[in-house]
Amino acid sequence: MTGYWCEAAWLGDQVAERVLVEVAGDRIAAVHRGVSQPDGAVRLAGLTLPGLANGHSHAFHRALRGRTHGGHGPGGRTHGGRGTFWTWRELMYQVADGLDPDRYFALARAVYAEMALAGVSCVGEFHHLHHGPGGTRYADPNAMSHALLAAAAGAGIRITLLDTCYLAGGVGAELSGVQRRFGDGSAVSWAERVDALSGALPAGSPARLGVAVHSLRAVPLPDVDTVVAFAAARRLPLHVHLSEQPAENEACLAAYGCTPTAALADRGALGTDSTAVHATHLTSVDIALLGASGTAVCLCPTTERDLADGIGPAPELAAAGSPLTLGSDSHAVVDLFEEARAVELDERLRSGRRGHFGAPALLRAATADGHRSLGWPEAGRIEPGALADLVTVALDTPRTAGTDPAQAVFAATAADVRQVVVGGRQVVRDGAHLQVGDVGAALAAAVAAVAGR
Ligand SMILES: [Zn+2]
Repeated sequence: MTGYWCEAAWLGDQVAERVLVEVAGDRIAAVHRGVSQPDGAVRLAGLTLPGLANGHSHAFHRALRGRTHGGHGPGGRTHGGRGTFWTWRELMYQVADGLDPDRYFALARAVYAEMALAGVSCVGEFHHLHHGPGGTRYADPNAMSHALLAAAAGAGIRITLLDTCYLAGGVGAELSGVQRRFGDGSAVSWAERVDALSGALPAGSPARLGVAVHSLRAVPLPDVDTVVAFAAARRLPLHVHLSEQPAENEACLAAYGCTPTAALADRGALGTDSTAVHATHLTSVDIALLGASGTAVCLCPTTERDLADGIGPAPELAAAGSPLTLGSDSHAVVDLFEEARAVELDERLRSGRRGHFGAPALLRAATADGHRSLGWPEAGRIEPGALADLVTVALDTPRTAGTDPAQAVFAATAADVRQVVVGGRQVVRDGAHLQVGDVGAALAAAVAAVAGR
């Protein structure tokens, strides 16, 4: 039995003081409030939260950070001096083309270590870079998936590998260029490969499997049916990019005569095990379909800002019944506190009013609801029986000093995370990653290897 004694801890939806969390194996055995620090207990100074769930990640996009804002595409071609979503996508494909399993392992391990330093104890990796250059199969067709699983283990965090079906370059279009690396040829082939992977994840492992439809741009409707049936038969989380850009809605309306949300509803793809990522450009009918089905919505505000996607209707979705979750997606920023408060702050800009989401709702998105969306319903809470995942934020830094602990989510940043415990084991101590060491150096080397710097 290990004891962690918290100066303050987030229990339920509020702050409790002087809390002892007793851990047996990877679970919380008991929680005692208002007690003195016992001998032998590890002191966690500051505010201790449940581990944070990063609901949507493309690990390799981290190599684009700070490199896509000048509007230069591959080969130095300029795009009017300003980047767009589509020039960003060109650079993203260039990075994808430089990856093999070894480079992907090194990059993802560094990225997941950055996440750990930011308090992320569980990541949902939306993975579609399955195959080699030109679409050639590796000797193990799941080599890239194994690289990601090993990377999460190397960084000491949980992972839900959301194995993503990606078959088309647009509605009715063939895969081209780097996209060939994403494709399995058919949803049936995709399912066979994922089945082989699922056997490699033993029970009790810190890795779980989920599945994803990349988007209705990239998966024809009959193949969506195959993925939905696969997920339902195995009770796996199902994620899908939804209405991130207006162009996606226009393509769907032109091809199918309905919005992407309506098309997904029609295929049985919505429900409490499903998560729609972004859900930015929705009709009122779309919002009602998502909410009534209990489909979670993963908001990625810092990426949506970076790519000029827009601000999604978060209050309307929450009111309709959709649990909200958070993702750092392209990793322009890795800071779940920033993602959380952005849900409220961006809505203030959109509506001209304050007071849509308080700290309890924002932290629920970052913890319990985020974990549930990734297939970890037993994580994201500090209570007996839950997985022993704890994140401690210092309350004496230049950013957090003087703040009310109950409102720390509006002040803290990733840089204020001091301690991270995953499955009862300390992964970050005093702001240092115990397994990876110099995370900045690991990132610099891994990014240079794929981005040619
Ligand atoms: Zn995404």
